[in-house]
Parts: sequence; C-alpha cells; structure tokens
Amino acid sequence: MAAIHMKQLVKRYGDTVVIPSLDLEIRDQEFMVFVGPSGCGKSTLLRIVAGLEPIDGGELYIGEECVNDVPPAKRDIAMVFQDYALYPHMSVYDNMAFGLEMRGTARAEIDRRVKRAADLLHIEPYLKRKPGALSGGQRQRVAMGRAMVRNPQVFLFDEPLSNLDAKLRTEVRTEIKALSQELKTTMIFVTHDQVEAMTMADRIVVLNKGVIQQVGTPDQVYREP
Ligand code: ADP
Ligand code: ADP
Repeated sequence: MAAIHMKQLVKRYGDTVVIPSLDLEIRDQEFMVFVGPSGCGKSTLLRIVAGLEPIDGGELYIGEECVNDVPPAKRDIAMVFQDYALYPHMSVYDNMAFGLEMRGTARAEIDRRVKRAADLLHIEPYLKRKPGALSGGQRQRVAMGRAMVRNPQVFLFDEPLSNLDAKLRTEVRTEIKALSQELKTTMIFVTHDQVEAMTMADRIVVLNKGVIQQVGTPDQVYREP
C-alpha cells in the first residue's frame, strides 16, 4: 500500500501556477528524496503533505484516507525544518514534550517517549538545557526528537542539514538514515545536495517548475547515460 498518494495535485499562489498537476506514490517505509533547483516547489509539496498549504486541485491520500480536508494536527505526520523552530525559553525536554502535552498525552507516556527519543538521538545529557546552549547539530537532534515523540507514520524533512557544517552533516545524515530503518517509517527528505540524495534515498524525485522530471533509484537518476 502507498503511504502517500498524490493524485493530480494542483497548487497556485494567486495567478502563479507552482504545481500544474502532479501524480506520485510513495511506498510504505520508503525513504524518498525530493531534489531540484531552488523555487521548483519542493518545500511547497512538503507543506502540502503536512497540511500547511491548501491545494487548488487533486487529491492527497495518507494511507487509505483522503486528507484534503484534514488539518495538520490530525495528520499522522511530523515535519523537521531547516531552522529547527525550537522554543528558546523552554528546556530541551519541554521542547520535545510540549506537543504531546497539548494533546493531553499522559505524563508517564510523555516521559517514556521523550527519554526513548533522547536515547536514540544521544541527547540525554542536554535534556535540561535551553536550545541556546546547544550546538547546531544538537539543536537539529532536538528538532528530530520533537518530531519522533509523536510516533508519526510519516516524517517530512525540509533541508534539515543545510545549517550544519560538512562533518556534522555527514554524521546526522547517517543517523537519520539509521533512524528511518529503526523506526520503520516513511520519510520524505528535501535537499539540493546530490550527495545527500544519493546516499540516503531509496528513490529520488527530480522536480523542475513543479513538474516531475524523473523518479527512480539513485542509480537510475544519477547514472551516466
Ligand atoms: P526555500 O528555497 O528554502 O524553499 P524560500 O526563500 O523559497 O526558501 O522560501 C522561504 C519562505 O518564503 C517559504 O515559507 C515560502 O513559502 C515563502 N515564499 C517563497 N517565495 C515566496 C513568494 N514569492 N511570496 C511569498 N512567500 C514566499
Ligand atoms: P523550493 O522549495 O523548491 O525552493 P518552493 O516550494 O519554496 O520551492 O517555491 C516554489 C515556488 O512557489 C517559487 O516560485 C516560490 O517563489 C513560490 N512560493 C512559495 N511560497 C509562496 C508563497 N507563500 N506565496 C507566493 N509564492 C510562493
């Protein structure tokens, strides 16, 4: 079964058509990477899947459900942003726990999930610190932890590594890939970095002006003609 199915998706901003009509199936537990030049619609597509942008035509399925009218909080999805979007006045623990608290999850369950995510991401030593006292790589792990505690079926990553230096980028890349295998979730990862795409993807979608140019494994997409 497809984890995500986009059927003739259309997106406009005012009179500008950003996605003319897009069809794509993403498989359950697949690691899908979107690449393409700046402005081709990668972020827009992620935001559509997250429910942060309305669509102007077509249908979006998550699992078997058409989610066109399902608000973001009711979608079984978590998104990790490039700029982390952490709350600066809250501790790492509270940043990770906050979303669950808002949903009324039981205290013991929140504690269990935060500790498990912190353990997997190697950030237990920082749980009491504020984000401002962490390095970029640590902050990125907290942002991932905050997404993980929701136990989502689908993770969306919008260029999550582009603020990290080269060494950390390689490190976090390996971690995200390992996590995707451990958590058995579906991942959509947006990047403009070909190395990231080649090393992480099960399949790659090449977008240009909101149109899919190519879909395939890294070998199929990047092999010499
Ligand atoms: P990226 O290339 O990383 O997607 P952008 O600079 O294109 O970053 O976009 C940053 C933010 O500004 C996004 O939230 C996007 O939706 C918004 N944005 C981009 N282009 C426009 C535009 N022409 N008008 C209004 N908002 C825009
Ligand atoms: P990418 O992520 O591939 O860089 P985006 O999805 O951010 O591309 O943007 C796709 C196109 O939509 C760009 O032309 C951008 O300027 C435009 N766009 C994005 N967000 C907005 C917005 N909120 N309002 C108007 N135009 C936007």
